[in-house]
Amino acid sequence: MKDPFFQPVSGFDLPRYAGVPTFMRLPYVPPDHARFADVDIGLVGIPWDGGTSNRTGPRHGPRQLRDLSTMMRLEHGVTHVRPFEAANCADIGDVGPNPVDLPDTLDRITAFYRTLQQSGIRPLTAGGDHLCTLPILRALGADGPLAMIQFDSHTDLYDTHFGGFRYSHGTPFRRAIEEGLLDPTKMVQIGIRGSKADQTDLEYAAEVGVRIIPVHEFFDRGVAHVMDEARERVGDHPTYVTYDIDFVDPTFAPGTGTPEVGGPNSYQALQVVRALTGVKIVGADVVEVSPPFDQSGGTALLGATLMFELLCQMV
Ligand code: MN
Ligand code: MN
Repeated sequence: MKDPFFQPVSGFDLPRYAGVPTFMRLPYVPPDHARFADVDIGLVGIPWDGGTSNRTGPRHGPRQLRDLSTMMRLEHGVTHVRPFEAANCADIGDVGPNPVDLPDTLDRITAFYRTLQQSGIRPLTAGGDHLCTLPILRALGADGPLAMIQFDSHTDLYDTHFGGFRYSHGTPFRRAIEEGLLDPTKMVQIGIRGSKADQTDLEYAAEVGVRIIPVHEFFDRGVAHVMDEARERVGDHPTYVTYDIDFVDPTFAPGTGTPEVGGPNSYQALQVVRALTGVKIVGADVVEVSPPFDQSGGTALLGATLMFELLCQMV
């Protein structure tokens, strides 16, 4: 089904540092474009970090991820999947946030993803902080709760922050469960670690049945064993995959707002995505890449590579 229009600009025609940096050098096809209805998988940016509780910066993620994603070539090095021939992929632009109004931004994001749903486009998103995933799920999970696989060093299952405020990047999945967008018995969170304010997130997870695989269990059992369990848990249910870059050890991914040491290396970071084969992925994201803390650009390169790995699974 290779469509010439949806092929990336070749690095042999125009060097990778030249030209306008769309995601993976794909054509830019925003919703008002004549070919929008032909897009199968849309790469979207959400330049917004209004839910960030500590160090801001993921609002700059999509632009930096676009730049570093120009390094992605045509074929996966291990699986030999050629995603741009298997599906019509395009950079469909950014969701325009309102940087001074959180509820308005959540509504804007949901409205954008409803448009994608109506057009049959599966989204692969570059965040933004992890609160961005909630309004995405409000669109994608509207017809019934989804399963979810989450790579993260945090559960993001807290109830409130800052005196009862219910929306931050530490609360999205509690809200999504409450709103019936996620089925907690079909959720798995992998890589959880670090010091904690309290145990209320873990207590909630136990109460509703979210499976948490802390990082010590991840290392004790190994990638293959853990991912077998994750695939089994979501089964053939429509599944959202959310990838917080702070899942990865800060040696490999320092450019993020809430880093936690003692995590997987960059190879293991890719391995877990390669183990998603067979999962029915309805959408995916890579969030919390924070260019102001990413001096070498290495975190964004890893983030862009993770997007490519996810894309190869989605096609
Ligand atoms: Mn997170
Ligand atoms: Mn996190």
